[in-house]
Amino acid sequence: MALLDSIGRTINYLRLSVTDRCNLRCRYCMPEEGIGKVAHGGILSYEELYRIARAAVSIGIDKIRITGGEPLVRKGIIKFLQQLAEIPGLEQLVLTTNGVLLERMAADLRAAGVQRLNISLDSLDPGTFLQISRCGDLARVLAGIEAAKKCGFPIKLNMVVMRGINDHEIMDFATLATTSATTVRFIEYMPAIREHGWQRLVVPGGEILDRLAERFTLIPAEQAEMAGPARNFIIPGASGALGIITPVSHHFCSDCNRIRVTASGLAKGCLFSESQVDLKPSLQSGSSLLLAGALGTIVATKPVCHQMSQEECHHQAFSMASIGG
Ligand code: SAM
Repeated sequence: MALLDSIGRTINYLRLSVTDRCNLRCRYCMPEEGIGKVAHGGILSYEELYRIARAAVSIGIDKIRITGGEPLVRKGIIKFLQQLAEIPGLEQLVLTTNGVLLERMAADLRAAGVQRLNISLDSLDPGTFLQISRCGDLARVLAGIEAAKKCGFPIKLNMVVMRGINDHEIMDFATLATTSATTVRFIEYMPAIREHGWQRLVVPGGEILDRLAERFTLIPAEQAEMAGPARNFIIPGASGALGIITPVSHHFCSDCNRIRVTASGLAKGCLFSESQVDLKPSLQSGSSLLLAGALGTIVATKPVCHQMSQEECHHQAFSMASIGG
């Protein structure tokens, strides 16, 4: 039976963060000084995360995306993914990664039952990549992408577009979709860390499309079920595809199908809402019914629309690394 929220949206997608730790320090994701990491004791065990996943599936979730921080830095992740993949009723197990550790982990991820990967990549230039990630080595990520391809993963790259920082690479990324079977999705920069003057960094999706249209013919693709918030486009003759995700200029709240759980057990119905339910008491009670009920509360109280304003940030600053994007 479909899981519906208070305005009739079907909620079938859980983004489950397994760690707030990351091996990059992307400037759009966390402040320069890093984030106050949750002490190890505050991070849920795999057993607790598994119980959350099972409870979520029991109420109607059929797609789980594992996220972080960087999920591949957490020890034991492969075994955990194997367990998740075996949950009856879970149709899609997918994962998002920055690709740094993919070269040596791609085959294991595939064997564990992960069906698809989203790989975050914001520049094809080593210097710009380093500037954005503050410590990343582009060559390692590219090697990771190659390894993922060899293992049979479809490749989907997510680029956070920032004016004056990497927007000059929009065409280079789009070209990847024409020269290889790669899906490239352009994401509008969101004010996660409440950076002063954040608006100047946002390149609206409409502008991205206009720029792309100067060189490419873009044909809107049919929206696949469970496709997420991207508007996708096909380029005639290209083996890949393009998508744009526009949380700032054109929100997609009416189609939002997701809930989120952080690595410390806070469930949220909306990235930009301060309302959350702490799942730890339900976990400690040992009752899967209570846990399912707590997740159900998040679904029932899911905001109709996010409160992010284009002028000001009304939400508290937060780190995407603790919520998982
Ligand atoms: N480490 C993994 C990764 O890099 O994919 C998972 C966590 S990361 C927080 C998840 C997603 O959030 C990434 O695709 C990232 O690009 C996106 N993200 C983080 N901060 C963002 C921001 N300020 N605006 C737009 N997207 C953001």
